[in-house]
Amino acid sequence: MAKPAAEAKELHDKQNDRMIPGGPEALQAIEEAREAVWERPTFAGQLFLGRVLTRLIFPYAVQSEEDKRVGDAFCEKLEAFLKQKVDPDAIDRTGDLPDEVIEGLAKLGCFGMKIPKEYGGLGFSQVNYNRAIALVGSYCSSTAVWLSAHQSIGVPQPLKMFGTDQQKRKYLPLFAKGAISAFALTEPDVGSDPANMSTTATPVDGGSAYLINGRKLWCTNGPVADVMVVMARTPDVMVRGKPRKQITAFIVEKGMPGIRLVHRCQFMGIRGIQNGLLEFKDVRVPKENIIWDLGKGLKVALMTLNTGRLTLPAGCLGGAKRCLQIVRRWAQERKQWGGPIGGHEAVATMMGWMTAHTFAMEAVVWLTSAWADKGQTDIRLEAAFAKLFGSEVSWTIADQTVQIRGGRGFESADSLKGRGEEPIPAERILRDARINRIIEGTSEIMHLFLAREALDPHIQLAFDMILPNRSVGQRVKAAVTAAGFYAIWYPKLWLPVLGNRPAGLPPQLRGHWGFVLGGSRRLARVLFHKMMRYQQKLDKRQAMLARLVDIGMDLFVMAASISRAAMMRSQDSSTNAVELADLFCRYARRRIDANFASLDIPEDRQGYRVAQDLMKGNYTWLESGIVR
Ligand SMILES: Cc1cc2nc3c(=O)[nH]c(=O)nc-3n(C[C@H](O)[C@H](O)[C@H](O)COP(=O)(O)OP(=O)(O)OC[C@H]3O[C@@H](n4cnc5c(N)ncnc54)[C@H](O)[C@@H]3O)c2cc1C
Repeated sequence: MAKPAAEAKELHDKQNDRMIPGGPEALQAIEEAREAVWERPTFAGQLFLGRVLTRLIFPYAVQSEEDKRVGDAFCEKLEAFLKQKVDPDAIDRTGDLPDEVIEGLAKLGCFGMKIPKEYGGLGFSQVNYNRAIALVGSYCSSTAVWLSAHQSIGVPQPLKMFGTDQQKRKYLPLFAKGAISAFALTEPDVGSDPANMSTTATPVDGGSAYLINGRKLWCTNGPVADVMVVMARTPDVMVRGKPRKQITAFIVEKGMPGIRLVHRCQFMGIRGIQNGLLEFKDVRVPKENIIWDLGKGLKVALMTLNTGRLTLPAGCLGGAKRCLQIVRRWAQERKQWGGPIGGHEAVATMMGWMTAHTFAMEAVVWLTSAWADKGQTDIRLEAAFAKLFGSEVSWTIADQTVQIRGGRGFESADSLKGRGEEPIPAERILRDARINRIIEGTSEIMHLFLAREALDPHIQLAFDMILPNRSVGQRVKAAVTAAGFYAIWYPKLWLPVLGNRPAGLPPQLRGHWGFVLGGSRRLARVLFHKMMRYQQKLDKRQAMLARLVDIGMDLFVMAASISRAAMMRSQDSSTNAVELADLFCRYARRRIDANFASLDIPEDRQGYRVAQDLMKGNYTWLESGIVR
């Protein structure tokens, strides 16, 4: 779907028009902030159009030997440091990362992993950075979040992408030396809907500076950050006679007067993070501290997250691997009903699921990280898939680990230790894993984001035909263009898929690859049918859209798993990775079939009605018998 940059503006305006009619102002702001143009090929985007770009995913993108050596050496040092100096249970208990841990991490260069070498950082590739986060995440999630909030979404990432030379020279070397950063978008009244934020930045002194006023909630690293990126509303601009909201990103330094930590927040998991409610009262920020440009703040935030999101699944992967290690040992060691619990089918099938899905997570994490490094593909959809899949799967894996550990799974590591048992932290892992389904885009918002992007090619073709304010000429032109596209595209979706089988595919996986090809065409057809049926009301059918997105996600993860297993087989003919890819594909195919079979079910509408009645208080009788 590559579009020349010259068409970007026109396309952008068209897209805004489509989303706006009757819609809230916030939608308009979000719509404007999304990247409208696809300049590089997108595997997942094409998958939703019924096309599988085999050349993008085969052969599996691997890290170069040289880059791997850098990562190996660093991870070895980091692992030794974690084992010697970091006590994850003490961090969980006390809610604090000791100073010596933070200093030690800074000394290793952990706060400068993603800072380019020219600014004094380690200049890591995305793969090496994610390897480090997966390693830390496998041991102490709080520590992983300190590092990730700082450089996946904190100031370094937007500065690298949009900063001026002057901003980069001023701030990046500080981070490389250990200065900590944070990302402040969420407010008490706006979470998933940041366009409605109320923090303001008012120009003063003829626009040479801005005064920031407002409150930012749940800002990770905020209480300790030396520098933050703060999103705030700058004065509206008039577009076609109507005011349009402007959100701008500012670099804010700790020492600027008027910043106050109102409250340090405490959570069910990742208890060692520093996270707080911050108040900004007439905080004076020079205009040189604007990132990118006035009004580009939401775009900065969304585009930062497009790659920033790759790190969270790497942390999830580390956690999932730790769970596998725990259950592997426990399922053999623990004997009940005459044998090891891992010999009972109910436990064994959980372990099989965990193993196959950890392999699939790994396939996705290293593929998307390598794609980010190569820079030849657009990975905004794949990063969102990685986040959604990684956070959901790692949560289930953590839950199954607690289940397999039985009562010990529910007992804290300290308590286990107190009575002389090995302090295995299954309950902490579960508590720590829960947040991943909420931060950096909730699972529900990820579904909506992915559905919007999946529909984008159709929206581009359709709007001039369906919008009320279009002239007859515009409608006719759009109809001709669309007819030309659909006349070729749609019949193709019904044809059998011939060829398109990558070389070196292990026989056990060939059928699964065929399923990906056919599944992609079916998905494209069904998505098109639903779009025709529901038209502008499609975005209201969130449950159905989520199932369609989940089908696309499972197809993508299948393709990544097949490719990774084929690569591993080509390197070592005795590898059993093919078995795991096969098992994952079987699970994924069942889910895909089930999702196709239940796409448009009446229970969605009935459930919706019941929920509305629940909110009106029509089921309060069901709350009887509880403490009032
Ligand atoms: C530990 C922690 C760390 C965080 N770190 C940061 C940080 O560093 N910087 C920062 O800016 N923010 C941070 N956040 C905020 C986080 O990003 C938000 O919690 C998240 O975006 C969700 O917003 P919310 O909690 O206000 O939920 P809401 O937006 O109020 O949503 C509540 C529920 O409604 C659903 N929902 C909302 N809108 C829709 C819709 N249109 N359709 C369907 N479902 C919908 C959501 O999915 C969710 O299930 C952090 C939060 C926590 C708890």
